[in-house]
Amino acid sequence: MKIGILTIGNELMNGRTADTNASFIAREINLQSWQVEAIMSVGDDFASIKNRLDYLMSLTDAVICSGGLGPTADDITTAAIAQAFGLPLYTDENVLTYIKDIFTKFNLRWVENNAKQAMFPQGAEVIPNSRGTAPGFSLSVEGKLIFVIPGVPAEAKLMITHGVIPALRKQFPQNEQHAAKQTIKTFGLSEAAVDDRLKDIDFKSLGVNIGFYPVFPENHIVLISRSKTQDQAQINLQKAQDKVSARVQDYIFSYGEKTLEEVIAALLTEKKLTIAVAESCTGGLITNRLTDVSGSSDYLERGLVTYSNAAKISMLGVPADIIEKQGAVSEETARLMAEGVRKLAGTDLGISSTGIAGPTGGSKEKPVGTVYIALADSKQTICRHYAYRWDRKRNKDMFSEAALFLLKNYLQGKINDTR
Ligand code: AMP
Ligand code: MG
Repeated sequence: MKIGILTIGNELMNGRTADTNASFIAREINLQSWQVEAIMSVGDDFASIKNRLDYLMSLTDAVICSGGLGPTADDITTAAIAQAFGLPLYTDENVLTYIKDIFTKFNLRWVENNAKQAMFPQGAEVIPNSRGTAPGFSLSVEGKLIFVIPGVPAEAKLMITHGVIPALRKQFPQNEQHAAKQTIKTFGLSEAAVDDRLKDIDFKSLGVNIGFYPVFPENHIVLISRSKTQDQAQINLQKAQDKVSARVQDYIFSYGEKTLEEVIAALLTEKKLTIAVAESCTGGLITNRLTDVSGSSDYLERGLVTYSNAAKISMLGVPADIIEKQGAVSEETARLMAEGVRKLAGTDLGISSTGIAGPTGGSKEKPVGTVYIALADSKQTICRHYAYRWDRKRNKDMFSEAALFLLKNYLQGKINDTR
């Protein structure tokens, strides 16, 4: 089956918004083993939308459109599609009630142009949107299927996976096979490096499709196995997973949807360990991520942002002369920070970060992207040095990820050095 993708919005034309919806949709389609025939973008304009839609429909079996479903005057996708096929618009009373209820629930003032989001071309089937006010719709015209979903990426993603893909599978039953899916989350290898390690695995003969999802700073691998029976799909999926695992074993932190912080939460809970955090360059990010998991108070005792030298000295007891001689960004300081916060908090573990997020503050010996992560328990302190090369925001994300990944490895008994 051939699919066309049409992303709609003036913000795409003037470059203010990067078209992440098109790439997301394309990946999802490929995971289903369908073919994306063409991807186009267009501004919020009646004639242009009709023109691109006509073209895409001439090439494909179905076109997926995103964007232009908002309440404001510039969002015209629904009206443009209705006009393109000479269909009148109607108001879906259930959807109107649903939208009005949202306004009441969040105490928002009702403005009449919001009613626009409850209007659909005649013959349309509503695709619910549990994340926002604008539902999408599907339409069967001229023997082709058209899907329309909102531009907001979080809403678009949800509606693609829960609305559009299932509807397409139903419409094109020749693709109706049993499927089994597995997500494998990795950290520490670039997307290219993951691809390189996996490139000679024969997924095709197993009936398995592989997709790569970079979710900075992680790389997620998605395997979808299809077969005539659910059992066979599962067996083939397991075979593919074993092959992938063997190639990237050291970098995997999760099989399934669990986040790194959720994996850590489970390990800390299982081992009945408590932890305290002392952060410099990550500015609270490590602590923030640990607290993203419900129930984190069971194991997280405190997180300190000891940003200045004075804070490291007075709060964590790092000797001034160590900072003076070794530097605030050094292995010694990182170790003493982890040990200091552990002692202060009376926890089983202490973890610390000290580094240079940039873009200023780097030197030849310690360039921007340098970070030291230390992890202390009652017997030992381990320390790792990493060198990244991103901008400030992404360096901080990398640093926090590296710290959590080290913690995960420690908790799984994968750290061997004793110093
Ligand atoms: P709309 O559904 O047109 O009101 O879009 C709402 C918001 O979603 C826009 O302001 C953009 O920030 C975002 N958006 C729209 N289209 C895309 C797209 N193709 N990729 C990523 N974001 C988008
Ligand atoms: Mg728009």
